[in-house]
Amino acid sequence: MNKIEKILNIIYPPKCGICGKLNENFLCNKCKKTLEIQAKFAIEKSESNYFKQHLYIFEYQGMIRKVILDYKFNDKSYLYKTIINFLLKNEKFFKILKSYDTIVPAPINKKRNKQRGYNQSYLLAKEIAKETGITLENDCLYKTKNIIEQSKLNKEERQKNIQGAYELKHAEKLENKKILLLDDIYTTGSTANECCKILTVANPKQIDVFTIAKD
Ligand SMILES: [Zn+2]
Repeated sequence: MNKIEKILNIIYPPKCGICGKLNENFLCNKCKKTLEIQAKFAIEKSESNYFKQHLYIFEYQGMIRKVILDYKFNDKSYLYKTIINFLLKNEKFFKILKSYDTIVPAPINKKRNKQRGYNQSYLLAKEIAKETGITLENDCLYKTKNIIEQSKLNKEERQKNIQGAYELKHAEKLENKKILLLDDIYTTGSTANECCKILTVANPKQIDVFTIAKD
């Protein structure tokens, strides 16, 4: 912890992101237990041509559903710490995460970033990179097209809607790398698929997808 962090800790003592109880890990024991019951820490083989496996922590329901909704839509950006602290306590996943060369957060477009003030996947990826020592690449994948909110569409419409929404830059940074694409929720997989399709152009060694939850 640096000096500024220490001072900030005195002014704003760290709390459990879920219930608000003072806790230096941003997650109290009671909420941690609830999450533990729900956690899957699953690895599934992908059916996509563009990524090999899908890793996720939770099914998108119960407490974690509320946490993710708060994190994305209710201005509670600090919840990334709660989620990451929970994730990194899992030895199996910590080891797996460490085995990647590079983590790439699923991008959001400029307008959305301005509205929300943060890219939820970027904050999560940045923290994972910091704790595991893998490289964060945030200037390779861009969302350039303004699309209709995916949650309002069915599977077929989602695939169409997302086509051509992403752009690749600095492809050389990803060449021959084992890449982990990070997104918050996996629903039909069309976002992950489209992101990985673009990443494939960079000729990486392998691409896997990691999401906090699977719907
Ligand atoms: Zn709590």
